[in-house]
Amino acid sequence: MPVYIDRLMADRNVLFMDAETFGAYMLLLFSEWTDGPLPDDINMICKIAKDIDQSKAEALLKQCFRKDKLGFVNDTLEEIKTTQQDLHQKRVDAGAKGGKSKAQKKIQKPSKAKAELEPSSSNKEVEVEEEIDSSSTTTTPSISEVQEHFKMSGYKSDPETFHAFNESRGWKGIESWTAAAVLWEKREKKSDKAPAEAEEWIDFVGTCSACGYTAKARNHISRPHQKLDCQKCCLEGRDPSEIVLKNPNE
Ligand SMILES: [Zn+2]
Repeated sequence: MPVYIDRLMADRNVLFMDAETFGAYMLLLFSEWTDGPLPDDINMICKIAKDIDQSKAEALLKQCFRKDKLGFVNDTLEEIKTTQQDLHQKRVDAGAKGGKSKAQKKIQKPSKAKAELEPSSSNKEVEVEEEIDSSSTTTTPSISEVQEHFKMSGYKSDPETFHAFNESRGWKGIESWTAAAVLWEKREKKSDKAPAEAEEWIDFVGTCSACGYTAKARNHISRPHQKLDCQKCCLEGRDPSEIVLKNPNE
């Protein structure tokens, strides 16, 4: 949830809130942001606001929320939510468009997605792109940008998979795709290595000659064998027999 501090602090209702009520207000906004309108149930509201007094909760609802058919809503929050969703959708659309035209033209101009928008784009879309460019450095990369970046950085992982994975999620939560690519590459490397390492550790097996108990223990394949005293013999009070554990594949 983005917090517009100036706007929030200038709100007359917030200006006169005590700390507890302000905390409750924030908790209710968080809840509305993630789960939608607040339930029309004062007990639930108190619970969401970490057990605030019912009278305070009621006053808060009256001051800062409006009763809708789905529950209580804060109009400012709903407005911000809608703007964010619009912006996000525009960004995804512009990114896809930029990627498409780039693939067709085989990179004529340097990166800025703005320059890649098709001439038919309305002014409104260009405005939105500019807004994004000035507010953050995030642009969604095209597949060819990702491919080139992976090649230049010497990454071993597949750029198409990285692009498709993030494209399908609308590049959600990614501030910088190049930073995300670093993490992606590291994770891929790890998962490449893990199975090979795991194969070097296996269960050695051996049977007690006195009681027939079968023992197992994890061992590195480089070890010829391992000896241990039979647990069962120990438990049953006999002199422990020695079990020799061996690599079952040898
Ligand atoms: Zn035994």
